[in-house]
Amino acid sequence: MVIRPLIAWTLALLALPLFAAEIDGFRVWTDPEKTRAVLDLDARADYQLFTLDNPPRVVIDLERSALDNPLQLDSEHAGIIQRVRHGTPRDDTLRVVLDLEHAADIRSFLLDPTGQYRYRLVVDLFPENGRAATGAVKQMADVQQLDRDVVIAIDAGHGGEDPGAIGKNRTREKDVVLAIAKELKKSIDARPGMRGVLIRTGDYYVPLRDRFEKARKHRADLFVSVHADAFTKRSVSGSSVFVLSRKGASSEFARRLAASENSSDLVGGVTLRDKDDMLASVLLDLSQSATMEASQTVADSVLASLERVGKTHKNHVEHANFMVLKSPDVPSILVETAFISNPSEEKRLKDPAWQRRIADSIAGGVQDYFYLSPPPGTWIAANRQPVRYKVVHGDTLGEIASRYRVSLYSLRRANDLRSDTIRVGSELLIPTT
Ligand SMILES: [Zn+2]
Repeated sequence: MVIRPLIAWTLALLALPLFAAEIDGFRVWTDPEKTRAVLDLDARADYQLFTLDNPPRVVIDLERSALDNPLQLDSEHAGIIQRVRHGTPRDDTLRVVLDLEHAADIRSFLLDPTGQYRYRLVVDLFPENGRAATGAVKQMADVQQLDRDVVIAIDAGHGGEDPGAIGKNRTREKDVVLAIAKELKKSIDARPGMRGVLIRTGDYYVPLRDRFEKARKHRADLFVSVHADAFTKRSVSGSSVFVLSRKGASSEFARRLAASENSSDLVGGVTLRDKDDMLASVLLDLSQSATMEASQTVADSVLASLERVGKTHKNHVEHANFMVLKSPDVPSILVETAFISNPSEEKRLKDPAWQRRIADSIAGGVQDYFYLSPPPGTWIAANRQPVRYKVVHGDTLGEIASRYRVSLYSLRRANDLRSDTIRVGSELLIPTT
C-alpha cells in the first residue's frame, strides 16, 4: 500500500484552533483536465489530505469539524469520483473519503470567503501521467513522484513580429530577454530539485494565453515571465517584480506598462479581451485567490534576491493587469529585469555576464521560496536545506520576518535572539513552514 501524505501545513498553521467548522455543501465538476471537488465550510478548518490505494481513494481529515447533511454526489459531473463517504475516526475529526475510479494526482487548497461563497476546501484530481498497468511498476512511479522536481516555466517576453521595447541603440527586448531566459533555465537546472522549462526557445511569437497554457501543460509549479522595461524618461532604472492585480493596474505607471505589454496580442493578430473577461469571472472564484497569494510570496522572495545584487525600481512588488499572469492555478510573476530605455541599462542587458548575474538572482529568489514552502511530493520537500539570509545595512528583524512570511517570534527562536538587534553581515536561519 502506498500512502502519500499531502498535508497542508501552511493552512494548518494559519488556522485558528478556536473555530469549529461545519460542512454545508459538496460540489463536483469535471473538465478535460481534472475533476474538482469542493467542500463548503462555514469556518476555516485544519485539514490533512492523503491518498490510499486498493481501492484508490482520497482521505480528507478535518479537525473540529462536523457534517450538516449527508454528502450527496452529483454523479453526472463526478468524473473519476465514484462515491463519497464520511466517518469519525476520532471524536474531534470528520473524515471524508472520495472513492476513485483510478489513482490520481491530487492538489488541494483552502479558499477564503468571497462573494456568495464561504470557506471552500478545493480538491483537484488529475489523471496520473504515464500510469502503468501493473502494480509493481505503478508503485515505482509513485516512489519517483515523491521525489519529483519543482517545475518552473520560464517565459521570455515578446518574440517574432513583436520586438517588445527598443532601446536607444536599437537593442530589442525580445532578444535580450530570450538570452536571460536561457541563462535562467541553466541556473534553475543547476539547483537540486528544480527544473526549468522554456516557453519559447527562439525568435517567434507565442500568444499570451498560450504561454500560461503551455506552463499548465508542463504542470509547472511557477511561471516566470522575463521582460525589460521601457519608460519615456531615460533616467528611470532598476528591476521590478510584478504580480497580477485583482482590480487592474494599481498605479498609473503599472497601467501604462500593462497596456504596452498586453498590446502584444494585437500584434500577434488576436484580441483576447472578451475571452479574458469570461475567463476571469470563472477563475477568480476558485483557484485564483490561492494562486495569487502564492504569487505574492514568490514575488517578494525574488525581489529580495534582486535587491541583494543590484538596484530595484521600487522597494515593493508591484501589481498590474498582465494577461500573461492570469493562469488560474499556476503562481505567476513577471520580472522587468532592467530599463532598456536607460542607456546604461541597455548596455548591461546585452552583456552576457550581467545576463547570467540577473538570471542567478531570480533563480536564487525562486529557490528560497520553494525551500521555504516546498510542494508536497517534491525532492525539495524531502531534502531541503535550511534557508539562510545575510543581513544587509538597513534591515530590521520585522522586515525580514515579513519578507519570508514567518513570525517574528519563530525568527527569534530559530536564531536564539534575545533582542531585535541584528548585525550587518550576520546570517539568519529562516524557519521553514
Ligand atoms: Zn515586455
